[in-house]
Amino acid sequence: MVLLDNADYLVLGGGLSGAVTALLLKQKMPSANIVLLEKQSHIGGVASSHLLQNHYVDSVYMYPDISCFLKYLKINFPTKRNLKNIYSIHFFDQGQITSIQLPTGIQQFEEKLIQYFPEDQFSIKKFWQDCQNINHQFLRLKSKFSFLDLLKFPFTMTKMIRFANKDYQSFLNQYHFKNPLLLKTLQSFAGIGQLSPDRLNTLIPIIAMINLAEKGCVPLQSFQELLNQLDSRLKEEQVKCYFSQKLQSLSKEKHKFKMSLKDGKSIYVNQVISTIDTKNMFQKIVDPDLLSSSFTTKINQLEMTQSCFIIKAIVQPEMDYPCDNGQILFYGGNNTFAFLLEKAENHTDPLHSDIFHFALSVREMEERVYAIEILVVPVSFSYWLKIAKLGRNAYFSEIARWEDFLYRKIAKVIDPDFNQKIISKKIITPIEFQGMYKLSEGNCYDMAQINRQSGNNRFGFTTPIPGLYHNKMILGVYGAFLQSFILVDYLLKGKINQYQYHF
Ligand SMILES: Cc1cc2nc3c(=O)[nH]c(=O)nc-3n(C[C@H](O)[C@H](O)[C@H](O)COP(=O)(O)OP(=O)(O)OC[C@H]3O[C@@H](n4cnc5c(N)ncnc54)[C@H](O)[C@@H]3O)c2cc1C
Repeated sequence: MVLLDNADYLVLGGGLSGAVTALLLKQKMPSANIVLLEKQSHIGGVASSHLLQNHYVDSVYMYPDISCFLKYLKINFPTKRNLKNIYSIHFFDQGQITSIQLPTGIQQFEEKLIQYFPEDQFSIKKFWQDCQNINHQFLRLKSKFSFLDLLKFPFTMTKMIRFANKDYQSFLNQYHFKNPLLLKTLQSFAGIGQLSPDRLNTLIPIIAMINLAEKGCVPLQSFQELLNQLDSRLKEEQVKCYFSQKLQSLSKEKHKFKMSLKDGKSIYVNQVISTIDTKNMFQKIVDPDLLSSSFTTKINQLEMTQSCFIIKAIVQPEMDYPCDNGQILFYGGNNTFAFLLEKAENHTDPLHSDIFHFALSVREMEERVYAIEILVVPVSFSYWLKIAKLGRNAYFSEIARWEDFLYRKIAKVIDPDFNQKIISKKIITPIEFQGMYKLSEGNCYDMAQINRQSGNNRFGFTTPIPGLYHNKMILGVYGAFLQSFILVDYLLKGKINQYQYHF
């Protein structure tokens, strides 16, 4: 056994959560020995860009604005702007397209909803008020750790407690909306949490919706730029980063954690913060003797979100594309995730319907050169695995079918000749995702447990093992920053909160 290091804190995983956590810890405790361990050769994890035709293309749009976190981390990334219309929904129904554009700004958002659906104005007002209350209460809960707040909790959090554990669909049903398109519009926010409304905890779409309404933003530069800056800051602060080092097991030896790496080396450490796949961590890595049976049962019951299918393309049209403010999201169909999954799991054709649920972003890279990305989530990994096992031809013809299907959708909305204007493209199936990120089960959204693990079942960042924290949250880039700040604040007993970063 070779001793690689002896550290105060080890942050496991150099994705966004890990990189931010390590940087923040070092910023606050310059003399502490803080180590970041990452199995790949660079930071970023699943948040990455691809180089196509000299442009970095990525799937990242951020909501809400993460600039307060970046400022605190001394990262200069002034590339975001608030969007006029952050959210566009296009419903495809038997050849007809109905489009709904929702602007940013809480008030404008509500007004626009009422304008589209005047017959439902009273229900909208009630719904919107409830959502704002719940979101507000959630953020208070997440941002404070005082005893007083805990005491106030039963009185102030009633709405949240009542609704948070409900699935989003039944939460929506209680408002009895008259216009079915309104229901579909509100359901589509569940897509941002990557799950269908009937599987998603109410809290997740509410947070997504309020965040979008409050402060929608996209990075103007590529996401790679943010990673580069994060990387330089880690170097500047002299955070010790061990890349291409995979943690294989974690056990305890004389009050210290022993982290055994794949190549036989070890690191001894006082406190560990894990940012990797929850199940993988507690089923395969942590010494089972350290875990109670109730905790193990809880881990076994965790459900993870699914994989995705991505198309990235650079196109050069003569005309301007409708990327008003850099980004558009399209959502179509009703409860399509469930539909897709069911079809995929039953090995029937997941493409036979005209309803489909996907996100599309359009970004102008230079004059008349656009990066277009379609992200379909979630997509069944097992379905794609079966196709891949049938051989190269079957695999590539399946890709072509999906591609054709999605291009036809774009052609309907943006440009009928879209297909001919592609100058470079990249398609990423769940199989490729698994290979690229060396994921355990092909699960690209391995970042968090989902809906049913809310309330008492929620998996917090403290674990039953003193000194071992687990920093995983579902809500994307913002979630990765927020959770890291909250955890470090917790470890430092409220010191960061003094800065009053805004949620
Ligand atoms: C295709 C795609 C598009 C997305 N688009 C958006 C978006 O538009 N907006 C948004 O807000 N969010 C988006 N997200 C989500 C967002 O990117 C993630 O929530 C966020 O990057 C997760 O960061 P993380 O650090 O929690 O996890 P990860 O990025 O998964 O980081 C975990 C890290 O741990 C490392 N690791 C794992 N096991 C070990 C081990 N045993 N030893 C050492 N290291 C290990 C991994 O290599 C990885 O680097 C998207 C995600 C995907 C996949």
